[in-house]
Amino acid sequence: MRAAVVGSGPNGLVAAIELARAGVETTVFEAHARPGGALRSAAPFGEGHIVDLGATSMPFAAMSPALAQLPLAAHGLRWVQPETPMAHPLDDGPAAVLHRDLERTSDGLGRDGRAWRRVHEPIARRMGEVASSVLRPLVPPTGPLPADPLLLASFGLRAAAPAAALARGAFRSEPARALFAGSAAHSWRPLSKPLTASFGVLFGAAAHAGGWPFVAGGSERLAEALVAVLRSLGGEVVTDAPIDDVASLDRFDLVLLDVAPRSAARLLVDRAAPAYLSALRRFRHAPAAAKVDLLLDGPVPWRDPAVAEAGIVHLGGSLAEIAAAERAVVRGALPERPFTLLAQQDAHDASRRPASDRGSREGRRVVWAYAHVPHGCTAPALELVTAQIERFAPGIRDRIVGAIETGPAALERSNPNLVGGDIIGGSIAGTQLLLRPTRSLRPYGTPDPRIWLCSASTPPGGGVHGMSGFHAARAALRAHGIPVPAPMTPSHPTPPHAPLAHHRSGDHR
Ligand SMILES: Cc1cc2nc3c(=O)[nH]c(=O)nc-3n(C[C@H](O)[C@H](O)[C@H](O)COP(=O)(O)OP(=O)(O)OC[C@H]3O[C@@H](n4cnc5c(N)ncnc54)[C@H](O)[C@@H]3O)c2cc1C
Repeated sequence: MRAAVVGSGPNGLVAAIELARAGVETTVFEAHARPGGALRSAAPFGEGHIVDLGATSMPFAAMSPALAQLPLAAHGLRWVQPETPMAHPLDDGPAAVLHRDLERTSDGLGRDGRAWRRVHEPIARRMGEVASSVLRPLVPPTGPLPADPLLLASFGLRAAAPAAALARGAFRSEPARALFAGSAAHSWRPLSKPLTASFGVLFGAAAHAGGWPFVAGGSERLAEALVAVLRSLGGEVVTDAPIDDVASLDRFDLVLLDVAPRSAARLLVDRAAPAYLSALRRFRHAPAAAKVDLLLDGPVPWRDPAVAEAGIVHLGGSLAEIAAAERAVVRGALPERPFTLLAQQDAHDASRRPASDRGSREGRRVVWAYAHVPHGCTAPALELVTAQIERFAPGIRDRIVGAIETGPAALERSNPNLVGGDIIGGSIAGTQLLLRPTRSLRPYGTPDPRIWLCSASTPPGGGVHGMSGFHAARAALRAHGIPVPAPMTPSHPTPPHAPLAHHRSGDHR
């Protein structure tokens, strides 16, 4: 049996690995010159300063059953775990800080510390089970039933709420509310919408469980390790190979498409009924990212030095301000102060800096950031992002020695899956969290029994976890009567969940 996978993002590569593990001869076709999709990295500011062109902080990779089973460490993958995954600076007073250690986080949140534990600890403690329950299609019968329906139900009760309502109900002060709102904004939905709390709870609990790791040396190293695993199983990756017509893949028994729904509709035009093609074209995309990378002549001059310790910094101010900015973006308006994510990878990973600079606490630093802007936004964002950083790091402008803006259109040019600058593979509005890319209970199948969908626009959705590819490959194998392979020996790509292991119990219930 022979299979083709179109697209080499994390989902395409994981799908290819699952097929190869089942004994299928697998070839990945990638339009770009290098594999990886939104995992690519480069050195646009000059040799030695590594910049992630797409994903950087990977809580879902840390909890992904598909990645955990692969011998990625044997192929050079190393995770870098900031002990402080995230900080959220505020205009008045110190920043709210999310540490891996739950107790340290609770202590820092003062009178909201106990409530923080109540919301996050039950999920963090059982993150492995929660992850395997949510990183799959959420509507039976497409996925297996969760191992512990009660656990999922208790998560679901909280998760179903709007994030703003949970934050206001559970927490009494701004730091905890804002900290939660920043994580919930990863839903790319107005925080008044149902289910947005699930993102706040999941991202917060993930920080306390598996962390929000970076890939040492740049995210592309994860793509390289996945390609190496695939090659070790006899698979291959062909780059500079855009697929514009599935007829060119007729020699393959199976074809998996790691492409956006509208690209799939184009590829399937002669292979599927018009109703299915229109359903794919109706798929709704999320707002966009406007990415800004800065080269600084030294570390970011944060007003609160605690922010310097964090891997990720959420720049958005209070819960109310983040909620208003996210509401505006979904309506198509560019906020004056857009919610902005900032990463300071090279503060935690010297291998992302030039060798000459590695021993020094000073030296040039890269800042990776993106702002939430309306879908397809064409307005420049560099100034807005810089102003948002300067608000919490006065004097940063004087340190900028290089700046690159990659707006929504440029993101889409670099990778056609990033439609209109949507970096999460589609909105979760309406039914699209549960049923995607069409309202079908067979999310991966298409009307052509040879052709399957596996991008982040299929369940469980955006983020680096490879689980869309994992489930799609297994669905395709089962449909063709090929036994799905047993898990490979786990290589423990993430460190043990130490911060929860030594927590003080009994004082928070
Ligand atoms: C700027 C940015 C920041 C992000 N930050 C994070 C983060 O910090 N953490 C996180 O978890 N996630 C993050 N994400 C999201 C995450 O990267 C994606 O959800 C994930 O990469 C999706 O994987 P995928 O395999 O579905 O598609 P992609 O990674 O988008 O890969 C798709 C690949 O398919 C190729 N392709 C498409 N059409 C064709 C064709 N017709 N022929 C051949 N090849 C084709 C493309 O060139 C591309 O290489 C970010 C994404 C971006 C862009």
